[in-house]
Amino acid sequence: MNAPVVAAKAYRTAVKPIWCPGCGHYGTLAALARAFALMNEKAERTTLVSGIGCSSRLPAYMTPYGYHGVHGRALPFAIGLKIARPDLSVIAVGGDGDGYAIGGNHFIHACRRNIDLAYIVMDNRVFGMTKGQPSPTSEPDWDSAMQPGGTQIPSFDPVAIALAAGAGFVARGHSGDPDALAEMIVEAVTWPGFAFVEVLTPCVAFREEETAWKRLVHPGNGFPGTDRAQAAAFAAQDPFGTGIVFRAANQPMMQRLAPAPVDIAAIAAEFAA
Ligand code: SF4
Repeated sequence: MNAPVVAAKAYRTAVKPIWCPGCGHYGTLAALARAFALMNEKAERTTLVSGIGCSSRLPAYMTPYGYHGVHGRALPFAIGLKIARPDLSVIAVGGDGDGYAIGGNHFIHACRRNIDLAYIVMDNRVFGMTKGQPSPTSEPDWDSAMQPGGTQIPSFDPVAIALAAGAGFVARGHSGDPDALAEMIVEAVTWPGFAFVEVLTPCVAFREEETAWKRLVHPGNGFPGTDRAQAAAFAAQDPFGTGIVFRAANQPMMQRLAPAPVDIAAIAAEFAA
């Protein structure tokens, strides 16, 4: 593992997180700070963009610029920012309710458009902030006070959907292993295109059973090939396996649409003729 260039705590603000004690989001916050330290990231050249939810509070706890915006709309804002300021490093963060329910449409099209930004989703399979409703990634039979008997709706598979929608970089990490997650985030942030990181992260308030993830989740080497269907099958085989599932360069949209440079000398010569 590489050594950080600066201290990770340099990227933390004095604002104390208001997450429940034991919440998995602390691990992702630590991983992100470590990733910035590994990259010697310039806080003034970086923006963290979020929507609404427990995990979407994260930008307040870090020194880069932050935008805590509208529910489900982290990606449209992040995309607009990156188009307007391609020189900035843009990272969208949030949870499964924000990103896969309210913002599900944006997630699919961000994968297709391949804008050069990283999207980190802290997936705890529940709407934690609003008292425990099932989210798109909740298991169909997850029995809860809010949904007795479960929704009986098949779960959203973020990794398979990102692959099917054309994302060039797809990874799955675990908030309980912040060092490994930090390395994965470095790969995602430096990837030249849309990079998606699904983070398995327990909600101790409404999904107590998720604390067992620490035992279930294990580090993997990821999938070495560039076949999307095979990568999706590989990830589905072991939903608690972590690692980089897919990596294949696509040309980012801004390069595809960039106008060809104007040849002023040729135009002048044409007028003079
Ligand atoms: Fe974390 Fe769940 Fe508490 Fe929200 S409700 S802070 S997700 S443990």
